[in-house]
Amino acid sequence: MGERLGASLIDLILPQSCGGCGRPGSAVCEPCLRALADLRFVRDHDAALAIRPEPCPEAWPVCYAWGRYLGVSARVVRAAKDGGRRDLLPILGTLLARSLTGALGRDAPGALVIPAPSAPRTKRARGDHPVRAMGELALRQVPKGPILLDALTSARGVADQAGLGRDARWRNISSAVSVRGRRRPVLAGRLVVLVDDVVTSGATLAACAQACREAGAGEVRAATVLAARRGSGAHRLPKGVAAD
Ligand SMILES: [Zn+2]
Repeated sequence: MGERLGASLIDLILPQSCGGCGRPGSAVCEPCLRALADLRFVRDHDAALAIRPEPCPEAWPVCYAWGRYLGVSARVVRAAKDGGRRDLLPILGTLLARSLTGALGRDAPGALVIPAPSAPRTKRARGDHPVRAMGELALRQVPKGPILLDALTSARGVADQAGLGRDARWRNISSAVSVRGRRRPVLAGRLVVLVDDVVTSGATLAACAQACREAGAGEVRAATVLAARRGSGAHRLPKGVAAD
């Protein structure tokens, strides 16, 4: 209660500013919403697209993403995750819902939605788990009841993935991600859809997919809000979809 009152008082003192450009007024201003819409992969509507990193990690699951991690979308994600702007999570959750819908297809009933884990050090610094929160918000917009399950964990001491090269990321993450022991029986034979905010090299999601398959998941797919396109982490897009 005290915390909520404190947050309301801060809202009164500090006008909200746009997570994309800093302009005071709303969580994301109109011009930034338009710029955000321009980053979606499917031009004429808000559906997500199956994407894959190039080069593609061996354990890569079928993965849907809504749009490109670039400019305003990158700033909004960074503000939500690292800038304390949790008011931006509903926007990202809504976009993640499009990807989740694509990844689930007709198989939503009984599916498990599992957030990619954040490294313990990162989690401590942020104080919570924004990707899990995005997953919860997305699930509210997906009918037929898939279940959110916190099943994956990152080993203590794993470095944050930011700033690491592709090979270093894979070494770092594939040895670190595992399914929590008591969650393993729940995964057996089920469709798992991993959720994450951004796919870059694909190493994190591939390692998560591998861990879920080893724990007995029937099938593993993935859904992310955005996909980054950078150097060797470029994403192969179907014909007709504009690249950078
Ligand atoms: Zn703006």
